[in-house]
This record gives sequence, structure tokens and C-alpha cells, in this order.
Amino acid sequence: MREKSEVRYLFWLHIGMKALFLAIVTAIFARCLSAQSTSAQELGATVRDQVRSYRHAHEREILGEFVRLLSIPNLASDPPKLERNAQAIAANLEGRGVDVKLLRVPGAPPVVYGWLRVPGARSTIGIYAHYDGQPVEAQQWQSSPFSPGLRDAAGHTIDWQSMTHYDGESRIYARSAGDDKAPIQATMSALDALRSLKEPLSVNVKFLLDGEEEVGSSHLPEILNNHPDTLAADIWLLCDGPLPPSRRMQVFFGTRGETDVEITVYGAAREMHSGNYGNWAPNPIVLLTHLLDSMRDTDAKILISGFYDDVRALAPSEQRALANFAASDEALKQEFAIAAPEGNGASLAEQLLKPALNVRGIRATDARVRQQVETHIERQGFFIVHQNPDIAIRRAHARVVKLEWTFAGQAFRTAMDNPAAQAIVKAIEQAKGLLSSRR
Ligand SMILES: [Zn+2]
Repeated sequence: MREKSEVRYLFWLHIGMKALFLAIVTAIFARCLSAQSTSAQELGATVRDQVRSYRHAHEREILGEFVRLLSIPNLASDPPKLERNAQAIAANLEGRGVDVKLLRVPGAPPVVYGWLRVPGARSTIGIYAHYDGQPVEAQQWQSSPFSPGLRDAAGHTIDWQSMTHYDGESRIYARSAGDDKAPIQATMSALDALRSLKEPLSVNVKFLLDGEEEVGSSHLPEILNNHPDTLAADIWLLCDGPLPPSRRMQVFFGTRGETDVEITVYGAAREMHSGNYGNWAPNPIVLLTHLLDSMRDTDAKILISGFYDDVRALAPSEQRALANFAASDEALKQEFAIAAPEGNGASLAEQLLKPALNVRGIRATDARVRQQVETHIERQGFFIVHQNPDIAIRRAHARVVKLEWTFAGQAFRTAMDNPAAQAIVKAIEQAKGLLSSRR
């Protein structure tokens, strides 16, 4: 994605959205879309109140459409149903005047691409979300993940169809009710609200709705490369992420990239009894734990040479944001039963801004990570292969390690003083007034 020069800014709007938070998000999008042409003061209270009224008058309708979307199974293992999701979303967008194309490559669910052109608008906001969901373990569900139900804060089922208004602490129970169909529905409802208020959009809006995010979006680069204009926008909002424990709206100016490597080390060529060969035949588990231990200490510090070289120092605006961050570290420590977090006293927010090396995977800033890690492993005396080593290799080298790399995503950070980003932040601050109101 970074190679597209027309993408001027990438920006991650991180909104936790669940159930009736939908209504709040509706207002946020409404304000976002209007933010650029009218002064914040003028629009703020009026649009906020009007959107609130709209939402209040249409709660069951919004919920009904959302429930229909959530009822379509969206597992990676079921491509025909993913296709049904894409078709349903395309129809919903088209019903709102959006030009829709399903972008396809063989072997992947379609990307739903939409473009809402607004006469006279010079800027374009892109909205990314995904319609596929995490795998389902049926025995862990009290109700069917694709038969959405509403429950109150105590967990009791609510007969929502016989009601017109819902408590803000109620929750929809369904796969993808939060991650990540909520922003899709929220955006549609925002468009409905603005149309009903006769509030014209001041920006063009693009939609990029992914169907394989939960399995790594491996076809997305190819799909985008086939459609070079799809990514052209002034700013992209990546609407995917959890509600922070503080329950405050958060805007994330970037994301960690991700690089995964599967490491296999080798002992003898066949199984053997430790009574006969222990202490003589190399022990692969011990080799691996020592190798991992050489890469990262118990305080999250990465010991691989050069790993931190590309980490950009925090800009003053980022330092200020960090200082004002609503930390929930103490509550999280209680919830996760972690007495002593890693990081030598640094906050979670500070630690999130550094590269991390987890034994489950590696997250860092660019492809050079691969070279750095391989150099490090070689220095520990390992001979590196990327395929299964043949017997000759294993006879010739004392320590053989197989590395299987997968590239999962590029890291990026958006400047906090970026004007388009600041317009979004202002819009969210305006809409935030709704957070305290529940009906
Ligand atoms: Zn997601």
C-alpha cells in the first residue's frame, strides 16, 4: 500500500464499536464527513443534536438492518457466504447512492469498493473496514453466532423487535457485531442521517471493505495493484479495533507492522531415547529456547543488533498526546492478573510505540528486520535454510534452523499535526458530547 504515491496519508481511526455504540459512531461519521467545509462551532451542537434525534427516531430500523447483516455467516471457511456478505453490503451501499464495484482475484472473497462522489467536493475520505469474521468455536457460544440477539447489561435477552428504544449498555451478541461489521453499518446509518437532515457532504467518500482481513488480507495488495486509483484519497480511516478500557474515543496515528517467522531447529534425524543418547544428541528444544533467549530479554528489550535503528523519535505532538493519554494500566493489570508488566516501568502506551518481538511472532518496522534476524541467528552459530534441509545439510552443519517468513503488514505512523487528521480529530471531539448521553 505504501507504494501508491497518490495515497497522501494513511491514518488509523481506532474506534471501539459495539451494539448501541453504533448510534454514537453514526454521529461521529456524520460530523467527520461535514468537518472540512464548515466551522466546527457552527455545525457542532446543531448537527450533533439533529443526528441524536435521527438516531433516537430510527433505533429499531438501524438495529434491524444491522441484524440482517450480522445474520449472514462470514467465516473464511465458507466462501459462498462471504460472497453473500459482499453482495448484501454492495446492495446497501448502492441504495445510498454509492457507486460500487466488487474487486476480485481468483481464490479470494471480493473487496467491496465504493465511491460516493459529491459535486464540488475536493477532498476524499477513505473508510476501511472488513466484513469477514474470526473463526467460531460453537461450544463457546451460548447462542448461535449468526442469530443476533440483544442482551441487557446483566446478560438477559431483550425482545428488541417489540421495542423502539434501547439502553446504551445493551449489547448485540453475534459474530462481528463489533469486529468489524459495526463500522460498515455505522457509516450507512451516518449517510442516512445526513440525507434525512439535508446536510450535504463536503467530501467524497470511498469505501474499501475487505473480505479476508482475519486471515491476513493476503490478496489485498494484488487487488489494489489491479486498480491503481482505488486508494487515491486524502486520508484513510481504518475502522477496526477494540474499545479501549477507558471507553474514550481513541484515534491511532499508525499501526505496528507485522512480520512472522516460523523457526524450526533440528536434532537427530530420527526419534531416540534419552536414556541411550541424552547429553550427546543435541536437544532441539534447548537449542530453540537459547536462541529465543538471545533475541529478547524478559523486559521486552530486543537484543538483535540494529533492531531499533529505524525507530523514529517521538515528535513533540506525539509526546504531548502520550502525556495526556487516558491510561488504564492499573485496571488492565487487575483484569489480566499481571503483577509486573514488561517494560521496566514504562506505560502500555509507551511500550506500544516500540517494536516488539514476541515468541509468537515479530513485529517491527520494515523488511530489514528479516535480514537483521537472520544475521543474528547466524551469529548464534546456526546454518539457515528456508526449505526442509536434506540429510547432507544436516550432516554437515552442527546447528540447522529453518525459517519460514510471512510478511503480514507494513508499519506506519501518521503525523499527528497532519491537517486532514486534525479535521477528523476535531470532528470526533465535537461528536464526543454524545458519549455521555444514553437513551
Ligand atoms: Zn478486525
